[in-house]
Amino acid sequence: MTIKTAKILDGKAKSEKIYQGLIQTITANQGRIGRPPGLAVLMVGDNPASAAYVRGKEKACTKVGIASFGKHFPKEANQEELIEVIHSLNQDERVDGILVQLPLPEHLDGIALLHEILPEKDADGLHPLNLGKLLRGENGLRSCTPAGVMQLLDEYDISLRGKQAVVVGRSILVGKPLALMLLEADATVTIAHSRSHNLKSIAQSADILIAAVGRQGLITADMVKPGAVVIDVGINRITDASGNSRLVGDVDFDGVKNIADFLTPVPGGVGAMTVAILLQNTVFSYLQTNQ
Ligand code: NDP
Repeated sequence: MTIKTAKILDGKAKSEKIYQGLIQTITANQGRIGRPPGLAVLMVGDNPASAAYVRGKEKACTKVGIASFGKHFPKEANQEELIEVIHSLNQDERVDGILVQLPLPEHLDGIALLHEILPEKDADGLHPLNLGKLLRGENGLRSCTPAGVMQLLDEYDISLRGKQAVVVGRSILVGKPLALMLLEADATVTIAHSRSHNLKSIAQSADILIAAVGRQGLITADMVKPGAVVIDVGINRITDASGNSRLVGDVDFDGVKNIADFLTPVPGGVGAMTVAILLQNTVFSYLQTNQ
């Protein structure tokens, strides 16, 4: 008997396609506009994971021809200083996208900083105006990770209309906006969270199951409907028996791959898409302000 194995949804390959498209768009418009698109990533402190994410974003910018205006602040930086920098980036015509890398040191108020970013330059798509546009189904900057999930599903022609989608996790960063996007694509959406009773039976009802929690091994094979599409947004750093550190998701990949029809890997799945959408949002703003 052959054991079936899920088709892997390759976020890395799809992100490369997005980068190629962005290179073409930038090349076609840069002469007319007179400058490349610009993205400013603000980072505070020395969190190694954040530093790695920022480096990844800057590397991707270089690859497609987006100018980086990154600013790195010491962990003691204060709110007023950051607001001042955001205001100056809001005015800076070379900058199309601004984002504040999270998490921030505890003395800083990340939500208040987000409110200072001009909604047109909100590359992360998390400003209340952009989230409100998502809620209303209007065009606008969409939050990167959920939009990345949607584009990955689309790449593999996975139809959502009428399907039962379960999103595990209800953060403003991932779970909630993703649920709205799935709803907009005509899925029937359930959101589960830490207070949900009987996660197993909720998950088993899913044609499309999305885990966005941050707990290794939360989704096991017995929670997955045969033939489901399983998207693993979680990123967890673990140290294995030999002392090596690596990233894993929320889904028990080895168990679930024999049950699901489609599955994203970690790394190489949703994470790769998130950075690509950030750049896509920056180029979207660049074109919007320079029509
Ligand atoms: P949050 O911590 O903000 O949210 C986690 C959510 O999971 C909460 O809604 C929480 O419920 C829910 N939850 C916690 N425990 C359980 C449980 N046992 N059963 C069901 N639900 C549970 O995390 P984020 O949304 O910011 O991130 C989620 C994961 O995705 C993390 O691993 C993060 O690293 C990763 N991530 C990956 C990205 C990528 O590019 N791939 C981008 C962003 C995040 P409650 O609301 O009740 O507390």
